[in-house]
Amino acid sequence: MKIAILSRNPRLYSTRRLVEAATQRGHEARVIDVLRCYMNIASHRPSIHLKGEELGRYDAVIPRIGASVTFYGTAVLRQFEMLDTYTLNESVAITRARDKLRSLQLLSRKGIGLPMTGFAHAPDDIQDLIKMLGGAPLVIKLLEGTQGIGVVLTETQQAAESVIEAFMGLKANILAQEYIREAGGADIRCFVIGDKVVASMKRQAKPGEFRSNLHRGGSASLIRITPEERSTAVRAAGILGLNVAGVDILRSNHGPVVMEVNSSPGLEGIEVATSKDIAGLMIQFIERNASLGRRRTRGQG
Ligand code: ADP
Ligand code: MG
Repeated sequence: MKIAILSRNPRLYSTRRLVEAATQRGHEARVIDVLRCYMNIASHRPSIHLKGEELGRYDAVIPRIGASVTFYGTAVLRQFEMLDTYTLNESVAITRARDKLRSLQLLSRKGIGLPMTGFAHAPDDIQDLIKMLGGAPLVIKLLEGTQGIGVVLTETQQAAESVIEAFMGLKANILAQEYIREAGGADIRCFVIGDKVVASMKRQAKPGEFRSNLHRGGSASLIRITPEERSTAVRAAGILGLNVAGVDILRSNHGPVVMEVNSSPGLEGIEVATSKDIAGLMIQFIERNASLGRRRTRGQG
C-alpha cells in the first residue's frame, strides 16, 4: 500500500516509527507536511498539491496533526477523505477530540464516568459555577490545551476565582473540573486501536506536580488495568469515532473517570514502557480495514 503520514516533522519518534513499521511490512510510506499542502476544493476533481507537485493516489493516510495546526490539518485531511483515501482517524473525530468540552459532552451523553466538570462564559457566574462543582480544589483547563500546558490546580476558592477570571479576561475558553486528589498525581494512558486496548501505562507526575504528562516530567511504568477500565477506554474512543486513541483515565473514588481522549497519542512513551510494537499494530489495523473501505463519515462531518 501507499501510505501518507501527515506530520510536520519526520524526525519525531512517532513519525519515524510509523515510517519504519510501514516499510518493514512492505508498504511505501511518505511523510507529508500538512502545512505545505494546498488544495483545489471546488473542482469537480478534488486534488492536493505539495510544492508544485500534485499528490498521486494514496491508499491510506495516518494523521499525526499537532494541536497547534488542528484547523488547517483537519482541512487537508478532509481533502484526502474527499479523494476517498482511507484515514486511520477521520477528520470529524479529530475535531471532536481536540475540543475538551465537546468530547466530554459526547462521553457524558453515553454514560462514561467523568470528573465533575463545568463551564461558564460570564465572569458574573464564576462564584456559582464553583459552588456547583462543590468548591475548591478545582482544576481549570484551557479547552484546547495540550501537554499539560493551560491546566492549573487551584487549591482555594479565591485562587479558583482569580484564575477563571484571568482566563476569561484573555477571552480563553476554559472548563473547571473537580480535582481527583485520590489519583495521587497519576493517570492511566490506555492506547486503543480499533476495539482493543493494545497497551497501557501508568504515568506519575514528578514530585510537587499534579500533571502526569511526560512532557511535564512525568514518568511511565507498566500497569495492569481492570476490565472496567479497559471497556471504558474502548467505549470512549468509539464514542468519539476514533480508531486510534490515547484514552487517559484517573482512578477516582467513584470508579474510573475519563479525563481526555487524544487523537494523536505519542508512541515513544508507550512503546518504551511496554516494549510493544504499537506502530506495527497501527499499520496492521490499516491493512485490515483500508481495502474494505471502512469509513465512518466519508468526510461529511
Ligand atoms: P492536556 O491535554 O494538557 O494533557 P489534561 O486534561 O490531560 O490536559 O491534564 C493534564 C494532566 O493534569 C493530566 O494528565 C492529569 O495528571 C492532571 N489532571 C487533569 N485533570 C485532572 C483532574 N480533574 N484531577 C486530577 N488531576 C488532573
Ligand atoms: Mg493529557
